[in-house]
Amino acid sequence: MLASRHITILRARGRGVCTFLAPLAEVPAKNLQVGACLAGYVRTMHENKVALVTGANKGIGHAIAIALAARGLTVLVGARDAARGETAAQRITGDARACPLDVTRADSIAAAVSRIQREFGRLDVLVNNAGIATFGAPSTTRLEDVRAVFETNVFGVIAVTQAMLPLLRAAPAGRIVNVSTRLGSLNAITDPAFPMRGIGGVAYGPSKSALNAITVAFAQELADTNIKVNAACPGHTATDLNGHSGARTVGEAAKHPVRLALLGDDGPTGTFSNEAGTIPW
Ligand code: NAP
Repeated sequence: MLASRHITILRARGRGVCTFLAPLAEVPAKNLQVGACLAGYVRTMHENKVALVTGANKGIGHAIAIALAARGLTVLVGARDAARGETAAQRITGDARACPLDVTRADSIAAAVSRIQREFGRLDVLVNNAGIATFGAPSTTRLEDVRAVFETNVFGVIAVTQAMLPLLRAAPAGRIVNVSTRLGSLNAITDPAFPMRGIGGVAYGPSKSALNAITVAFAQELADTNIKVNAACPGHTATDLNGHSGARTVGEAAKHPVRLALLGDDGPTGTFSNEAGTIPW
């Protein structure tokens, strides 16, 4: 009991206690309370920032995961297919770990939350990158396809963000980055000079307009916390999503989302931007 109370006091003092742990770790954890406290220590001992990137098994999300791991973060490579996630994580240099996560499934999200809570006790960075698209004329796009796009790009982001918020609040400076697109900017799509005018259709573009509004909503609710919430436009990039029609590489596209993921305390919240600056809503 004395040891348990001692550990609890040490835990409250944070990472500085690590050096005290070696002798404690050798004590057989006969007492469950002591075992639980040691588990808490293991979490506080994880020095790297922890990032979760959804849809990181390929495309822009994979490039974001590579860049964050290169910056020394522990990266959870979100993938709805476990095997694709494992393969993707193995391709990344640094501390990258597969994290099975289908953003449209509540049980999958809950399992990811439990795992992050158990392994790290916090989440420093959430990149809501997973996305799908349907393109076509508004008049002929099937309603079920619109629903599927909104399920992933909109409801998936809300569900994952809500579920991860307790873990983000437990981090010293949580960062949420929503991967959006100019096609979601009403300002851009009503500009006759915008080259991609009319491309976003009635599913993909509107889903990202909603994502932008969701970014503002979370940023406003979290304005008095250490969590910053921003939307990033990666630019038109060659990926499976658009049949590789984009001009940018995934490495180029990842740069701005990564910058927002690593924002300092003086960085903005509730913005929509690319590397050139703020994008009008
Ligand atoms: P991509 O190569 O098709 O990658 C999309 C990723 O999302 C894949 O890993 C995919 O997994 C995953 N995903 C789809 N549904 C999911 C679900 N329900 N749960 C978890 N993961 C799911 O496309 P991308 O171009 O890299 O797109 C990444 C993000 O960038 C999207 O949000 C997209 O809207 C945005 N964006 C792209 C461009 C562009 O020009 N490419 C421009 C602006 C914004 P699977 O492999 O299992 O399908």
